[in-house]
Amino acid sequence: MRSLSFDELEAFLLSAGEARFRAGQVYAWLHKPVRGFDEMTDLSCALREKLSHISRLDSAQIEEKLVSAKDGTVKYLFSLPDGECVESVVMRYRHGVTICISSQAGCRMGCRFCASTIGGLKRGLTAGEMLSQVIFAQQDFGERISGVVIMGIGEPLDNFENVAKFLLNIGDPRGIHLGYRHMTLSTCGLVGGIDALAGLHLPITLSVSLHAPNDALRDTLMPVNKKYPLSALMDACRRYQSATGRRVTFEYAMIAGVNDSGSCARQLAALLRGLLCHVNLIPVNPVKERNFAKSSAENMKNFMEILQDKGVAVTIRRKLGSDIAASCGQLRQKRV
Ligand code: SAH
Repeated sequence: MRSLSFDELEAFLLSAGEARFRAGQVYAWLHKPVRGFDEMTDLSCALREKLSHISRLDSAQIEEKLVSAKDGTVKYLFSLPDGECVESVVMRYRHGVTICISSQAGCRMGCRFCASTIGGLKRGLTAGEMLSQVIFAQQDFGERISGVVIMGIGEPLDNFENVAKFLLNIGDPRGIHLGYRHMTLSTCGLVGGIDALAGLHLPITLSVSLHAPNDALRDTLMPVNKKYPLSALMDACRRYQSATGRRVTFEYAMIAGVNDSGSCARQLAALLRGLLCHVNLIPVNPVKERNFAKSSAENMKNFMEILQDKGVAVTIRRKLGSDIAASCGQLRQKRV
């Protein structure tokens, strides 16, 4: 039921013979950390009983949590109703608390450096399973979550319908009501999905996992590049930028000896010329099945300076949660 939009919920309750005003009450509860209809205390007992027979809540449930001793970042392992598991990470920044949520159990994109894709894709998450990561992590963390990044396990644009429903629900003023300007969706570059996201007309930040400045190198790191090469991807980014007015973010994991040369930096600057964007450089995080090593601090600095010289906005991303394997590309499915 957590996957329903307000209108769908209203239609469902009307068809079950309930009064229209019940939709507002139930919808508000669906955005709170309740685990059963019996906790919806302003509904009559008869209605709570009836709902538990004709519907289910569609929740993800916290199974385990790890707290970083370094920076207080918390990683949650959630179990889903069918026994699949995903992880979410809550981070505190100066401007507020942000959650990184998963959009799929597993992933089929096959990026060479990422742990999340190792076991392949199990399934896409429902909108309700995404929403409940936010709700229950917020309850456990004990502070209001103001930002959401869809950058955990999975490729969100490979589960577009459910992600779109989640986005519409989480921004609905009748529910948890988070601001779209504080939301980011990260993709490996599914061009059709980028256009579909632009079609929602929401001011969400699009983050593109780039990691290479030319097709030959990107083909070897990210199989998706064979289907959507850089020229098509960059065109989609330009369309997204002009449709939403938002600056596009590019993620670039720096891998020693692979994509961190001065020549790569110059190619990257040329690729991004004329696009309102921002580059995040991230030292690649270790994944035990893979043997990529992170670039040296010196190489990262050189790379950044070349980009800056050419007028590209760039930052080196602060790493959170590295001691609990909660950093980018380290999230994976674990069975309980
Ligand atoms: N599928 C989406 C979102 C999940 S990955 C995407 O590709 O964007 C989240 C981010 O972590 C992406 O930018 C991804 O490229 C990056 N990432 C994956 N493995 C990494 C690693 N080992 N080190 C650093 N970043 C990594």
